[in-house]
Amino acid sequence: MKHLTQEQVDEIRRTLLDQREKLLESAREQIRDPSNVAFEGGDEIDRADLEEERYLTFRIKGREARLIHKIDYALMKIESGTYGVCENCGAQIPFERLRARPVTTMCFECKELEEEQEND
Ligand SMILES: [Zn+2]
Repeated sequence: MKHLTQEQVDEIRRTLLDQREKLLESAREQIRDPSNVAFEGGDEIDRADLEEERYLTFRIKGREARLIHKIDYALMKIESGTYGVCENCGAQIPFERLRARPVTTMCFECKELEEEQEND
């Protein structure tokens, strides 16, 4: 990700963390709604943050869970320095595209080819 400045990387990281927090928050709300819980009581939610997050990520399903996994994956790639490179063709993904869709793992051209199969 040499084509990204430290400031750009920081901005994307903040966006990802923010998005992740919102997803977790909506997961918490889902879990507090009695119609969504499969266990007794809400004490489970008082655990340490990390465990709570793991628990929530495990509990929530569908689109939100997939998105959280994508966010985690993107954050992991930022940490390892491989973020912003197309996983399909190895091209550098422009900052503007990354900013618009921080979880993307492919350049625009490769994503276009794949779009019909997976719509995120
Ligand atoms: Zn590509």
